[in-house]
Amino acid sequence: MYSDVSLFIDGAWSASAAGKTIAVLNPASGEPIGNVARAEAADLDRALAAAAKGFETWRKISAYDRARIMRKAAGLIRDRVDAIARVMTTEQGKPLAEAKGETTAAGDIIEWFAEEARRTYGRVVPARAQGVYQLVIKEPVGVVAAFTPWNFPLNQAVRKISAALAAGCSIIIKGPEETPASCAELVRAYTEAGVPAGVINLVFGVPAEISSYLIPHPLVRKISFTGSTAVGKQLAAMAGAHMKRVTMELGGHAPAIVFEDADLDAAARILSASKFRNAGQVCIAPTRFLVQEKLYDDFVSRFVAVAKKLKVGDGLDPATQMGPLAHERRVAAMEGFITDAVQKGAELVTGGERIGNKGYFFEPTVLTNVPKTARAMNEEPFGPVAMITPFREFDEVVAEANRLPYGLAAYAYTRSTKTANAIAGAVESGMISINHHGLALPEVPFGGVKDSGYGSEGGLEAIEGYLATKFVSQASA
Ligand code: NAD
Repeated sequence: MYSDVSLFIDGAWSASAAGKTIAVLNPASGEPIGNVARAEAADLDRALAAAAKGFETWRKISAYDRARIMRKAAGLIRDRVDAIARVMTTEQGKPLAEAKGETTAAGDIIEWFAEEARRTYGRVVPARAQGVYQLVIKEPVGVVAAFTPWNFPLNQAVRKISAALAAGCSIIIKGPEETPASCAELVRAYTEAGVPAGVINLVFGVPAEISSYLIPHPLVRKISFTGSTAVGKQLAAMAGAHMKRVTMELGGHAPAIVFEDADLDAAARILSASKFRNAGQVCIAPTRFLVQEKLYDDFVSRFVAVAKKLKVGDGLDPATQMGPLAHERRVAAMEGFITDAVQKGAELVTGGERIGNKGYFFEPTVLTNVPKTARAMNEEPFGPVAMITPFREFDEVVAEANRLPYGLAAYAYTRSTKTANAIAGAVESGMISINHHGLALPEVPFGGVKDSGYGSEGGLEAIEGYLATKFVSQASA
């Protein structure tokens, strides 16, 4: 059921010019399941030429017709949910139910951007002189180079492709080498829906080779990257040196604040589910759990009970609630974070170990009394590790929430509207969800502040990143 993945350039699937490939592994077994083509400069040159041609074609297609084609792609994705989800679970590890949810959401995202394509309004500015029209027009920026990671193989790619297409841009997307096939299914659906050759081009390879070739290239006008802050800073610097527009969706270290007047049951239930979703490999995963003293012991015991009961296993098994980590590097990273925290005085309440010797399974882990100097309290763990810390007062918890350079997501639980308003205003983050998990819908903004990046992957702000503003001042001749 798992097929090798080719490059998609100028409307056709092909091997790389040099015939090189990269192995794809099943994270539940660690065994190879296929290969993905590895692009080099000759392939990227073809993709660039195709994207330049694709842009000329696509920009001339009306927003109405672009939207029609996009809606058809959304329908194809929905028809294929079961098949795509199995492919995703096989290459990425997440439970089948999560993979189905991500695939269904991809349809919603395409549809949202399809509708927004018809609403890229400009405006008319009143002129000072009679007979003058001052028009503000939105134009597609041109060829986009996008880089997407392996944690949500469809979701990360569909946001960038759909925003670009809605705006009238063409795109070269470097998909995730660890999880290439579900991303390829997305491109297949778009192509079968009628997106012309050259408009979407999909490549894989050595990430640094591809980004350092595409970002400076004069044909590329916009960069969009999702991944770690460290890599994002390098790519943004490169883009800056070449005056390219950039959207950066980077790491996070979300504070989850539980005030003493919270609905404890809802807080523990919703936050533990969000922590262990996709084995914690989620940029908006709650990470620093900050619980007011009165509820602290109860919250810890409820959270730990959930962590201990989670069924970890192969994502294809319907009983599985948490799959393996997506690759071996994450297992080593978890072990490093936990050893460091315990050495510095943290208490390991549950978990902390790799499970078995096959695949990349890891125990849901809870640490308490973690000193602020521990690496896990400063770097994005990106795995199934929760750190729970008590706090006394509002100002103290705000200081802790804002201590890190990250500013992507935040969560808070309180029954007081006054506290909810105060915390929403005080936390330095691009998004905050209060008393429920309400982030990442297609129609709402998605993005960070500080080291978590800039630009948006959702809402009407997302298309803005793919549009240039042109001013036309016109007098009658
Ligand atoms: P990594 O930093 O090597 O890679 C992260 C992503 O960036 C991958 O998709 C990779 O292909 C890409 N990448 C790396 N170097 C690149 C380059 N020079 N040019 C273009 N793309 C490049 O780490 P990893 O082991 O794959 O993942 C671990 C870290 O990445 C996590 O700790 C997390 O912080 C971050 N990450 C974030 C997200 C997110 O949703 N924001 C997703 C995946 C990974």
